[in-house]
Amino acid sequence: MVKSCLRYTITMDEELALQALKRFIADRDWGQFHTEENLAKSISVEAAELLEIFQWGNIADPNRVKEEVADVLTYCYLLAMKLGTNPSNLVLEKLQETEIKYPVEEAKGRSTKYDQL
Ligand SMILES: [Mg+2]
Repeated sequence: MVKSCLRYTITMDEELALQALKRFIADRDWGQFHTEENLAKSISVEAAELLEIFQWGNIADPNRVKEEVADVLTYCYLLAMKLGTNPSNLVLEKLQETEIKYPVEEAKGRSTKYDQL
């Protein structure tokens, strides 16, 4: 049950990533460009770059995939920080809602949307 996971504490790896991102942005004075709107657009742009890797087939260079996933995650982290939270907390909070929409007994092994279960 996700509820028990909501007492989430940030891990050392996440803390290091968040601090590195904050320093990277501050050193370049790029925070001025990081409005919620710009970060949301950047997430979409990077997600499109990830999808582009698979545009003409399902075989992709894993390193290119990792690079684009990193770009998407970076902007997600930045937007989460802008919103005063962190990505893991957002995922856990949303997962709690999703668990309610998709009860295991109805959704297990099915890809049906929750309102069609
Ligand atoms: Mg990219």
